[in-house]
Amino acid sequence: MKPAAFDYHAPTDPGEAVALLAELGEDAKFIAGGQSLVPMLALRLSVPEHLVDLRRTDGLRGIEERDRAGENGAAGADGVLRIGACTTQAAVERSAEVARAVPLLARATPLIGHFQIRNRGTVGGSLAHADAAAEYPAVALALGARIHARSPRGERTVDAGGFFTGMWTTDLAEDELLTAVDFPVWRGRSGFAIEEFARRGGDFAIAGAAVAVELDGDDRIRRCGIGLFGLGSTALRAAAAEAAATGSAVTEVDADDVARTAVAEPESIPADLHASADHRRHVGAVVVARAWRRAVQEAAHA
Ligand SMILES: Cc1cc2nc3c(=O)[nH]c(=O)nc-3n(C[C@H](O)[C@H](O)[C@H](O)COP(=O)(O)OP(=O)(O)OC[C@H]3O[C@@H](n4cnc5c(N)ncnc54)[C@H](O)[C@@H]3O)c2cc1C
Repeated sequence: MKPAAFDYHAPTDPGEAVALLAELGEDAKFIAGGQSLVPMLALRLSVPEHLVDLRRTDGLRGIEERDRAGENGAAGADGVLRIGACTTQAAVERSAEVARAVPLLARATPLIGHFQIRNRGTVGGSLAHADAAAEYPAVALALGARIHARSPRGERTVDAGGFFTGMWTTDLAEDELLTAVDFPVWRGRSGFAIEEFARRGGDFAIAGAAVAVELDGDDRIRRCGIGLFGLGSTALRAAAAEAAATGSAVTEVDADDVARTAVAEPESIPADLHASADHRRHVGAVVVARAWRRAVQEAAHA
């Protein structure tokens, strides 16, 4: 099928993009890489009258390390890697800065679809689309990312923990532009791992887990983050499993216990033609345990 007719707009700066969306109202949508939206247009699951293309909008691309000390007043606090919303997933994959500063993001990126998709798909598009089985929302939750948005009412920042509100829905208002994401740079003795199970390479995962762990000098878990994908109506943070592990000696935390607690947290696990809820829960526990073990091992050797 072909998309229904729409008017095309190509703003050159973010202010113009936001003003256009506000002016055109609910019949308008942003398009970034088009890797989720174009299939929806072709199937006529989405029928906007106007598309506001972000690809020629200046100031929405780029990867930049920033110090967060000024922001939160805590000297020595983690810095952040700020990634512009329209930065492609391929640019993230190629970036030595991402690999060094936010290894979890670097390791998650090659798991997204195929190279052709990552070449167009964007960081902001993935987070705004909020597919429950997508990698980036789970990474954002595990690391505690912060998402910047702009609308005619001004700019604001949302914690990833409050951003994913349900199936394909986020905290963004209809007229809000996601402008950038701050991924915290976890310093110290940290380890990171992402594990997923998919039927074929390039498919969305049936279940996946992104894990970040930081140890203190006594081999206790100073902090950890566990983001689950494919296991709910949206990406989820396994808060109870994180809380149970934090503060414990690393040798006392059993990866299978972490996994059991994590997969018990989603209120309901989706069932579809790819997997039953029970199968997803089982696979989910396997990937959480694997990711936990790998992250802990890396942290212990950091
Ligand atoms: C065959 C195939 C396999 C795929 N496999 C995976 C996978 O394994 N894992 C995965 O995570 N993804 C996968 N994807 C999706 C892909 O990663 C998309 O690129 C991504 O989800 C959306 O990014 P985009 O830039 O293409 O957004 P678009 O498709 O352009 O937009 C998606 C939605 O986000 C909104 N939007 C986009 N940018 C902004 C912004 N800056 N501010 C506000 N709203 C915005 C749009 O209005 C739209 O509603 C796959 C896609 C295909 C076609």
